[in-house]
Amino acid sequence: MAEPLAPEETGAPGPFGSGGRTLLAGWGRTSPSYATVVEPDGVDALEAALGAPTTNVIARGLGRSYGDAAQCAGGLVIETAALAGISDVEAETGLVTVGGGVSLDDLIASTLPHGWFVPVTPGTRQVSIGGALAADIHGKNHHRDSSFATHVRRFSLATPTGTVEVSPASDPELFWATAGGMGLTGVVTEATLSLLPVETSWMSVDTERFDDLDGVMAAMESGDDGYRYSVAWVDCMTRGARLGRGVLTRGEHATAKELPAAKAGSALTAPGSPRLKIPRPAPPGLLNRASIAAFNEAWFRRAPRHRMGELHPLASFFHPLDGVSDWNLLYGPRGFVQYQFAVAASESETVRRAIEALSAARVPSFLAVLKRFGPGDPGPLSFPMAGWTLALDLPVGPSALPGVLDHLDEMVAAAGGRVYLAKDARLRPELLGAMYPRLGEFEATAARVDPDGVLASDLSRRLGIGAATNHAKEHV
Ligand SMILES: Cc1cc2nc3c(=O)[nH]c(=O)nc-3n(C[C@H](O)[C@H](O)[C@H](O)COP(=O)(O)OP(=O)(O)OC[C@H]3O[C@@H](n4cnc5c(N)ncnc54)[C@H](O)[C@@H]3O)c2cc1C
Repeated sequence: MAEPLAPEETGAPGPFGSGGRTLLAGWGRTSPSYATVVEPDGVDALEAALGAPTTNVIARGLGRSYGDAAQCAGGLVIETAALAGISDVEAETGLVTVGGGVSLDDLIASTLPHGWFVPVTPGTRQVSIGGALAADIHGKNHHRDSSFATHVRRFSLATPTGTVEVSPASDPELFWATAGGMGLTGVVTEATLSLLPVETSWMSVDTERFDDLDGVMAAMESGDDGYRYSVAWVDCMTRGARLGRGVLTRGEHATAKELPAAKAGSALTAPGSPRLKIPRPAPPGLLNRASIAAFNEAWFRRAPRHRMGELHPLASFFHPLDGVSDWNLLYGPRGFVQYQFAVAASESETVRRAIEALSAARVPSFLAVLKRFGPGDPGPLSFPMAGWTLALDLPVGPSALPGVLDHLDEMVAAAGGRVYLAKDARLRPELLGAMYPRLGEFEATAARVDPDGVLASDLSRRLGIGAATNHAKEHV
């Protein structure tokens, strides 16, 4: 694994044109690299940076991808914070136009008080619109509402060959290549998406606790279709009869009628700011097998066995980790890997075998997130596919970890599944084609707007995405 980051090196990049190099890492902090970082103050400056490149270039939103997708060692990283602006929401359609650098946090703060919520949200509000589209993010409602790009009507894309307007009708190949394309088709400067009307900022939540994985999966298969949102937290450190015990939470947006009088005053309130901050990386080994097993046990015991219709604030239902900023520093200087894979519904046995492999290797793993996906969208590099997805948080350190993850990659690829590129920091390139069989289609579309292979990231170089075209750029 790469050198750990010093705490001051996780912060904001230097000013535009400074020429200095900045060390950048993903949220897992495992694979940092140096790049020149610029923050164009608008679309003109962005086009200038992209139009006369002397090196490889990639966009960076809020750096919440876990691995090396928003880094470009030795190249140019374009921070998008200045791509700002949120239009009024069109009352009849729920359409809103948003700058590519705007966070979901800011979008929700602006629209929720007026009764509009984002159509898809990941486990944090601290992602940008551009990052959400580039990863084609999914939420707890994928089985019902698909992923982020499905709700995007159009976007503006700054590419090395100029800025283009893209919609599913005007250029379906470029639209869907950008959805999940990890920034390799250009920089999204603005997007129009449709929001979800809600009556309150509260969720009506049903919680059930199961003593084993079979119970969790059976309940999800039989009942998820009755809910907009569903997610299970699964304990991967248990063995034997308790393997994969879990807590299933499912919910709906609460209606105004469901709120008791005491909550009516806070019927539509935007989430607040983080209450806690982790100031520096925790000592190595704080999160170890014993401490994580104790946390998982306490969490499982605390969950109700069966509780229906409980009202939860929207922020604690969707984004429980956003209450603590920089919580990734708790994993210490070596950081952590988030490993997420998806397999078809018929491959539920692969989910079980993955949990068994982790449990047998005795690598510590926080509660894993298990979800059911609905059908994927047309994006050739978009991650979701109909079936199951499991996401694991694994501290770097145990010697067994790299071997177990290599084994899981092979198991997932053999089952026709894939790992999520927005979380990845370590997949071997030879498995990418099996996991994303439409890679060639993606590369052909990307080459159309980037014929010289200017756009590249540490992720794309490591996995050889667009390798044929990027080769030319190495000699610029
Ligand atoms: C706590 C936590 C929970 C998460 N939960 C989920 C989840 O439930 N579901 C899910 O799908 N994901 C989840 N994620 C992952 C996250 O949603 C994605 O990695 C997302 O891409 C991060 O957005 P960002 O703005 O931070 O992008 P970055 O991490 O900065 O960049 C990610 C990718 O997007 C590209 N990119 C960024 N901005 C632009 C732009 N303007 N134009 C073109 N490309 C751009 C970058 O080049 C890079 O390839 C989670 C992450 C965290 C930290």
